[in-house]
Amino acid sequence: MNRPKIVVLGAGYGGLMTVTRLQKQLGNNDADIVLVNKNDYHYETTWLHEASAGTLHHDRVRYDISKVINPGKVNFVQKTVTKIEPESKKVILEDGELSYDYLVVALGAAPETFGIQGLDKYAFSIVNVNAARQIREHIEYQFATYKVEGEKNPERLTIVVGGAGFTGIEFLGELGNRIPELCKEYDIDQKLVKIICVEAAPTALPGFDPELVQYAMANLQKKGVEFRIGTAIKEATPDGIIVAKGEDETEEIKAATVVWAAGVRGNPIIEESGFENMRGRVKVDPYLRAPGYEDIFIIGDCALIINEEINRPYPPTAQISMQQGELLASNLTKLINGNSDLHTFSFDNKGTVCSLGDDDAIGVAFGKKITGTKASFMKKMIDNRALYMIGGVPLTLKKGKFDLFK
Ligand code: FAD
Ligand code: NAD
Repeated sequence: MNRPKIVVLGAGYGGLMTVTRLQKQLGNNDADIVLVNKNDYHYETTWLHEASAGTLHHDRVRYDISKVINPGKVNFVQKTVTKIEPESKKVILEDGELSYDYLVVALGAAPETFGIQGLDKYAFSIVNVNAARQIREHIEYQFATYKVEGEKNPERLTIVVGGAGFTGIEFLGELGNRIPELCKEYDIDQKLVKIICVEAAPTALPGFDPELVQYAMANLQKKGVEFRIGTAIKEATPDGIIVAKGEDETEEIKAATVVWAAGVRGNPIIEESGFENMRGRVKVDPYLRAPGYEDIFIIGDCALIINEEINRPYPPTAQISMQQGELLASNLTKLINGNSDLHTFSFDNKGTVCSLGDDDAIGVAFGKKITGTKASFMKKMIDNRALYMIGGVPLTLKKGKFDLFK
C-alpha cells in the first residue's frame, strides 16, 4: 500500500510547528511529508515591526527552512500556492499541482482593508520580510529627500500609523527608538518629525487592560508619538490620509508614509478555494478540520475558533498557531498509525506581552500585569521560546535575542 501523503501549506509558526513535530513523531516509512512555502526561508512574523522600523536587520528575522527540517523525512517544495481543490484532493501551485491524503493549511494572514479606498495603493502593511524592508527604506528615503529638496516638504517627515492594535503599538515603539537615530544620521531636528497614530476605537489596544494601555500611550507620547483616538481612516491618497472628523466632516493629514496596521484577515486562498469562511478564516471543528472535510486541517491565522467564555473568536496569534500545530502533529501521527482516538484543541492562554521598543513593554503574564524592563525581558524570552520550540538550542543560539535586560 502507498504511504499516506501529508501536505503542509505554509512554513510559518503553525506549519513549521506541525512539520518539525511530525518529523520527530513519525518513522521514515510511515508517511510522505511535503512542506510547501513560497520562500526558502521562514520569517518571524512577530518581529516584522522591528525590521520595518529598521531597529533590527531583516536577516535577523528570518532563517532557512532547511535548518529546521530533516530532508530524510520532509520534502520541501518552494512554490506559491494559488488554490486548493478539496473535491479532487489537489493543491494548485503557480506551476504545477500536488495531491494529498491529509492537508494542513497554515498560510497565515493578509491585511484587512475593509474596502477603504486607496489603502492598497498608497499605504504599506507589515506583512512579510520584503514589505518590512520596503517600509524601512521608504522612511529613510523620505528623510534623505527632505534634505536634498532643501527642507521644503515637511510631510516627508510625517509617518501615519493606522490602527493602535498590538501591531500598530509595537511598530510605534520601534519608531520611537529609530527616529532619533535617523534624525542624527540626516541632520534633521527631531521636533520636525511627526509620528501620528490614528485609531478608530475610543481607546488604543481596545479590550486590553486600561492601566497598561495608559502606560503604553504615555511612554510612546514621550517618544514623540501623537495619538488621534476615536478617529477612523476613511481614505488613503497620494498625499496622505483622510480621516473622519465628527459626523459629516473629514480632515486631511498629509504624510509621505502611511502604514496600515488596522487588522488582518485569513489568506485569500481560503476564499479562492471555496471554503465557508468569515474574513478568510474558517470556523474549524474541535479537531481543527474544515467543516465537511475529514482530511483538511486549517490552523493559525486562517482558522477561527470561538472562545466560549466570551463568545468571540480568539485573536489570531503565533501563540495559538503553535499550539494548534503541536496538537495537529500528534493527531496526524495517530491517524497514520491507525488510531482514531484524536484529541480536541483547547487554547492554553499563557498571556500577552506587547513591546514598546526593545527597552520597554507591557503585558499580562501568568495573570500578573508587568511593565518596563521586566515586560521587555519577558517578550524576548517569548521570542526565544518560539525559536526553541521549532529549531531547538542551535536555532535559538543563532537567532535568539540575548540583550535581555535592555
Ligand atoms: P505565518 O506565521 O504568517 O506563516 C504563513 C506562511 O505561509 C509564511 O511563511 C508565508 O510565506 C507562507 N505563505 C503565504 N501565502 C503563501 C502562498 N500562497 N504559497 C506558499 N506559501 C505562502 N502573535 C503573538 O502571539 N505574539 C506576538 O508578539 C505577535 N506579534 C506580532 C507582530 C506583528 C508585527 C504581526 C504582523 C503579527 C504579530 N503576531 C503576534 C501575530 C502572529 O504573527 C500571527 O498570528 C502568526 O504569524 C500566524 O501564524 P501562521 O502560521 O498562521 O502564519
Ligand atoms: P487588531 O485587529 O488587533 O487591531 C487593529 C486596530 O485598528 C483596532 O484597534 C481597530 O480599532 C483599528 N482600526 C480598524 N479600522 C480602522 C480605521 N479605519 N481607522 C483607524 N483605526 C482602525 O490588528 P493587529 O494589531 O494587526 O493584530 C493582528 C493580530 O495579531 C491580533 O490577533 C493581535 O493580537 C496579534 N498581535 C499580537 C501581538 C502581541 O501579542 N504582542 C503583536 C502584534 C499582533
